[in-house]
Amino acid sequence: MISFFKLSKDDIIKKIVAAGFPAFRGKQLIDWVYNKNVFEIDSMTNLDKAFKEFLINNIKLINLETIKLVEDEKGETIKFLLLLGDRNTIEMVIMRYLDKDSSKNRNTLCLSSQVGCKVKCPFCATGTSGLVRNLKAEEIVQQVSIANSYLKQFNAQINNIVFMGMGEPFYNKDEVLQAASLIRENYEISSRKIAISTSGIIEGIKELADKDLKYVLAISLHAPTDRVRDYLVPINKKYPLNQLIKACRYYQQKTKKRITFEYIMIDSMNIWPDDARQLANLLKGIDCHINGIPVNSVSGSEFKRPKKKDMYEFKKLCEEYGLSFSIREEKGTDIDGACGQLRNKERK
Ligand code: SF4
Repeated sequence: MISFFKLSKDDIIKKIVAAGFPAFRGKQLIDWVYNKNVFEIDSMTNLDKAFKEFLINNIKLINLETIKLVEDEKGETIKFLLLLGDRNTIEMVIMRYLDKDSSKNRNTLCLSSQVGCKVKCPFCATGTSGLVRNLKAEEIVQQVSIANSYLKQFNAQINNIVFMGMGEPFYNKDEVLQAASLIRENYEISSRKIAISTSGIIEGIKELADKDLKYVLAISLHAPTDRVRDYLVPINKKYPLNQLIKACRYYQQKTKKRITFEYIMIDSMNIWPDDARQLANLLKGIDCHINGIPVNSVSGSEFKRPKKKDMYEFKKLCEEYGLSFSIREEKGTDIDGACGQLRNKERK
């Protein structure tokens, strides 16, 4: 079986021509899947019987199934629980940023790269379950089509991608980079609208720099000292801050691209005034932006969301030290918005 979502549009047409069908049949198939978001071969009304039979016997289309869909009150955050062919489950989230001028609407897809994750950040519901397996490139790419299929009702489609769902993308680097390249080509989403977010896997950062792939690099920093980061992002014991920041400088030197640092904001843990000072020291000379993310409360968690006033004081202090800092608009807190929460609930 040929996996449709593992191929570029050109390669699909080549396979179809190689099987003895005219190229226009391949274009019709591509139109159904990518423009009309139709995935059932029987519903593709302009294909003839022989071609449909060939597709049924030789082409594997969608093999991810939406088994749960939860929307927040405003319909801006839509969370999906997806069933994979081997009965494992993953999550993905659509975040809609709606503007009065609808041409400025943004639809971001936060997609998963692994089933579970071995980094085990203690504030993350995905980390608590450990790693089950890597996703294949086609399983990653399919998430975009499923999201577009949902957005069709609004005449909208995904225009931003963040590899920030379940999993550490650089622990599944080859499949993630292949998927990113297919997403770029097949959905015409430019590299600068695709962000790869890592907990700090240095080899991955260096490879991104050396290949000059132009994706946005996001680092889950979360603390300015090894003492706190060892706890919040356990991979820090393997790749401590001095090595991580060195890799970031290398990346920037090579690509000249701005880096995003994600900073989860936790009450009484990492937003002390001294943290702002140490953060400014750590990131000195790096062209970057910091995304402050209020921690999402996982049930039974020791991590508490700071008061709004404390978060804004921390942001102000960081700015006074010369850092560019924003606090991420909170989305999906009423629907178990943090990665892995929906899956964990379902598993229980
Ligand atoms: S926050 Fe990211 S890297 Fe950390 S455990 Fe969760 S999925 Fe893995």
